[in-house]
Amino acid sequence: MAHENYYRLGVFLGMLLLMMLWEALAPARRDPVGRSWRWRTNLLLMVSGSLLMRLLAPISLVALAQVNQQQSFGLWYLFAMPYWLMVLLSVLFLDMAIYWQHRLFHRIPLLWRLHQVHHADPHIDSTSGLRFHPLEILLSYFIKLLLVFLLGVPALAVLLFEIILNASAIFNHSNIRLPALVERPLRWFIVTQQMHRIHHSQRVVETNSNYGFNLSVWDRVFGSYCAKGRKSDAQLDIGLVQYLKPEQNTGLAFLLSLPFRLVKDTTRNDKPVKR
Ligand SMILES: [Zn+2]
Ligand SMILES: [Zn+2]
Repeated sequence: MAHENYYRLGVFLGMLLLMMLWEALAPARRDPVGRSWRWRTNLLLMVSGSLLMRLLAPISLVALAQVNQQQSFGLWYLFAMPYWLMVLLSVLFLDMAIYWQHRLFHRIPLLWRLHQVHHADPHIDSTSGLRFHPLEILLSYFIKLLLVFLLGVPALAVLLFEIILNASAIFNHSNIRLPALVERPLRWFIVTQQMHRIHHSQRVVETNSNYGFNLSVWDRVFGSYCAKGRKSDAQLDIGLVQYLKPEQNTGLAFLLSLPFRLVKDTTRNDKPVKR
């Protein structure tokens, strides 16, 4: 655990560089805005989130998990189970929790105000996986903190989960298209690019589907899975109709203040997916 940050940074940079190279060689869709604008904004948002976390996060999730472990505190400790099972269950449970958290961010108007910064991106590529309002990052951290504390999630599970979540967010936002022969079986297990792009569709019923970030099973189990959008993956309209002008989706200052603006919103109702 002493090298926690090196593992995170290594996997993060490795994944980002790999997907950026893949996107450059074989992009799935054309970027309508221009890379330099979008990349700058998305990366600056990530930096702002990291800064806010430095200022306001009292303890790292791994450090809290270690304290729990020393005290044998948390729900898992009420059951006699092997360590490996505790790690596995924790990673699965956290993934399901992130699914529900994402769904709530769409459902609750105040939370949607924050999350729409992610959806206002008019194109998606690997940098979109880093594009979240700093307050959403902070809120998400406190939710995870509570879960780690109450469940007694082992430190190894926290580290694994954070690394996997980070890598899969970069992977499933990347602007690539896997061949159908690979993509179809793969999406039985994990969220693929085609699956997550439907979640970024401008059509409300499609936005309110495919909430998973890592495992695709939660959308199938909880009835929010959408296999195909009305338009094909290549034709799909990405973004939010209320923020289609470039100055509304690429300026850092605009995006930081976006949750506090009054704009007529058409996207947040959580209707069931039409199949
Ligand atoms: Zn979303
Ligand atoms: Zn997304």
